[in-house]
Amino acid sequence: LVSRKKKPEDTIVTLKSENIGDGKPHFVFGPCSVESYEQVATVAKLMKEKGLKLLRGGAYKPRTSPYDFQGLGVEGLKILKRVAVEYDMAVISEIVNPADIEMACDYIDVIQIGARNMQNFELLKAAGAVNKPVLLKRGLAATIEEFINAAEYIMSQGNGQIILCERGIRTYEKATRNTLDISAVPILKQETHLPVMVDVTHSTGRRDLLLPCAKAALAIGADGIMAEVHPDPAVALSDSQQQMDLNQFDKFYNELLASNFVR
Ligand code: PEP
Ligand code: MN
Repeated sequence: LVSRKKKPEDTIVTLKSENIGDGKPHFVFGPCSVESYEQVATVAKLMKEKGLKLLRGGAYKPRTSPYDFQGLGVEGLKILKRVAVEYDMAVISEIVNPADIEMACDYIDVIQIGARNMQNFELLKAAGAVNKPVLLKRGLAATIEEFINAAEYIMSQGNGQIILCERGIRTYEKATRNTLDISAVPILKQETHLPVMVDVTHSTGRRDLLLPCAKAALAIGADGIMAEVHPDPAVALSDSQQQMDLNQFDKFYNELLASNFVR
């Protein structure tokens, strides 16, 4: 169902006034984790000034260590909803439990399925059974074929509103947190009719690489960019090393817009 052979024309996923997959670049920014109303609203305020409408923030955090911050859960979803209403934005947040999918639909505009859950088939089926866009991230060690099959799981249940997100894969290379598989973008665009985004934060794990990788992603045909922004990354409860502060974000976004890669 996700194959370009079955449906030659591009699928467009509409969020607020943004049509993801329309050939123009779209941007998803926001903190790694939802920590407080003030924290999310601070980022949303700056985004709104720039005309940005797609806000991210994790309420359920799949952390490597069980002793690290696990997220605010449904309280986090409530904060996202409040900010979304106040700032007229669409919010994207990861759901990790199939039993939470229906409940989450009351709070968020896009269900994110994280890299660690790309082959959680019960979660994929639950996301496929609701009428809500899904942002599906590539697994840490998933082939493109496995990634496409994960999207097929969602669509086979009836939900065709899927955005694919390349977020880097695990290789032997240690210079970056993961290895951004930039060629996955045109391959996914050829093989499927779904929009493709690139998460430059989790793929690189390096602030100095966010801008060049975002330019590369747009140049190679990505439909959008995701990156993490936090009012004070030094005290962030997750991913404090890689999130941009508001000044870095301002510079990043302005330089990206000024580049020739924003079509
Ligand atoms: C995230 O986007 O919050 C996240 C945890 O990313 P990933 O699943 O790609 O690691
Ligand atoms: Mn993160």
